[in-house]
Amino acid sequence: MLEKNVKNLLQTIPKTNKFGEKVTLVAAVKTQTAQDISRAVAAGITDIGDNHVQEFRDKYSQIEGNPTRHFIGTLQTNKIKYLLGKVNLYHSVDRLNLAEELSKKSANANVVSQILIEVNIGNEPTKSGFEYAQVESAYKKIAALPHICVKGLMAMLPESDNESLLRELAAKMRILYDRLNAQGANFEYLSMGMSGDWKLCIDEGSNMIRLGTAIFGKRNYKN
Ligand SMILES: *Cc1c(COP(=O)(O)O)cnc(C)c1O
Repeated sequence: MLEKNVKNLLQTIPKTNKFGEKVTLVAAVKTQTAQDISRAVAAGITDIGDNHVQEFRDKYSQIEGNPTRHFIGTLQTNKIKYLLGKVNLYHSVDRLNLAEELSKKSANANVVSQILIEVNIGNEPTKSGFEYAQVESAYKKIAALPHICVKGLMAMLPESDNESLLRELAAKMRILYDRLNAQGANFEYLSMGMSGDWKLCIDEGSNMIRLGTAIFGKRNYKN
């Protein structure tokens, strides 16, 4: 089941987007067991992303196959220490204070942390992330911090059946990504797309998608 999902996805997801950029699939592994995550890796998953620091710590050494680690959840500054040097890319830097603390703690640990700036593209009160109009100035401040490398932007589209609205928002993200790149940002990743909307996100220029349900099936939060 899980193996078949991975196989189908790896066959279906385009290797590159319309800009010729490689598309990376990150498995969103919240609530999944180390065993199932290892099975997904054995089936071809190269990158995995956690939402919760506790889960990340519990399963870290039990996952086989040495996948690239991402952190895709909301991060409290007092928990940074558990992730330092172990996470390849932090997707959800959603406030200045988090970037500053990550910078400080990365400097102390003598590591460089690669991050994405999270954008609240749907302007939803329930979602975190910088407001669209504030991203440019936030980027400038964050990019100036030592021991941080800003690799791009991350967004979660609203839950909606309105495909044209979703496409419009995804395209807006790509415009912002391109604008900052034109200013010398040197971005590599636009992390946008989940199980319900990844196709349209890649169409509109995403090059990194985060899939949970499409790989593991419906989540059981009792685990
Ligand atoms: C859970 C999660 C996903 C994956 O969601 P699915 O709809 O199950 O694919 C992607 N991104 C983030 C930040 C998540 O928390």
